[in-house]
Amino acid sequence: KLDNHLSGRHFLHIPGPSPVPSRVLRSISYQTIDHRGPEFGVFGLQVLEGIKKIFQTKQPVIIYSASGTGSWEGALVNVLNPGDHVLFYETGQFANLWRTLAVRLGLSVEVVGKPDQDTWRWGVDADVIEARLRKDTQHQIKAVCVVHNETSTGVTSNIAAVRKAIDAAKHPALLIVDSVSGLGSAEYRHDDWGVDVTVSGSQKGLMLPPGIGFNALSPRAIEVSKVNKTPKSYWAWDEILESNKTGYWPTTPSTNLMYGLHEAMDMMMTEGLEAIFARHQRLAAACRHAVDAWGLENQSLDQDCYSPVLTCIAVPEGMDADLLRKHALEKFNLSLGTGLGKIKGKAFRIGHLGDCNELSLMAALSGVEMSLGAMGYKPKASGVVAAQEFLK
Ligand code: PLP
Repeated sequence: KLDNHLSGRHFLHIPGPSPVPSRVLRSISYQTIDHRGPEFGVFGLQVLEGIKKIFQTKQPVIIYSASGTGSWEGALVNVLNPGDHVLFYETGQFANLWRTLAVRLGLSVEVVGKPDQDTWRWGVDADVIEARLRKDTQHQIKAVCVVHNETSTGVTSNIAAVRKAIDAAKHPALLIVDSVSGLGSAEYRHDDWGVDVTVSGSQKGLMLPPGIGFNALSPRAIEVSKVNKTPKSYWAWDEILESNKTGYWPTTPSTNLMYGLHEAMDMMMTEGLEAIFARHQRLAAACRHAVDAWGLENQSLDQDCYSPVLTCIAVPEGMDADLLRKHALEKFNLSLGTGLGKIKGKAFRIGHLGDCNELSLMAALSGVEMSLGAMGYKPKASGVVAAQEFLK
């Protein structure tokens, strides 16, 4: 039993899981039906077609009952063979966790990042990738793995530039992208950007509870997977793709979460992807106005790569970011994201993704401003007023 004694609404402003709209919650509560019955096949085909629009792809999208981490694994074990050399670009904690998973799978991992900089404060520098690939004349590197929206730092990288870098180096490496927290919030174009596998999950921009993961594929990824030697069963794309032809899955799919996915996609298509991306950009810019007014520092130093999904804020020396978060939760029923990895205690994150609008953001900013005051911090100016001025 969860014992939330605080009255009023809970303001969930971590960068995922994000709030689940009532419409989606209600659809999840529909009766579970036979996942091998005729009704489910029709529904399954609708979901499989719908999800392609979200990834902006014409290629198949694998839907796993899994979290984002499972889908990371699904991507790697289908296109990489044991011992393959893989380039990971370090943007923050999630790039690091994915790389650790790759090491555990027996891949040979090489990490690159922005030279002479704290790589956790910048987006992917595609020139670094191009230079490394040009040196690899024997084509030892089989894949380049990058995180589109680094949830630990609030940085969104330019994936089209990474594809250009791989092409400019005339290198055959596959491009594998994590857009677990970018999809459905930040612009994402799987086909146009020439991504071979995109990994994602349900609990961020798609406004669903956790529990569904995705691999969006390219024709080349499918070809490569057919001759792949890595032992796998649950994650193997071949059986799933075969069953998906008629709207079914080889195992029991997450029936009720898929009802929710169908409903969420309907909401997203009604708003329109471009409008969704613009809304996220607007809310993120408002949040940054607040941060500037408070006189605090954005974890991202990369102005071209500010995330529309979340803002990661460094707290002043001597302040414990987790104490601030504790205060916001206990006093105002506001959940803020903790600093992850090496910035734990030094930063906190405000999620402004998914089912978020001006007033939900304003509530979060207000809770942060009051909590900063309770920590003894004297802001330069009111962030709430600054954000309001911007949004007006
Ligand atoms: N990648 C990114 C960018 C994430 O933000 C997350 C989770 O927050 C993951 C991967 C891992 O996903 P999960 O926690 O669903 O396994």
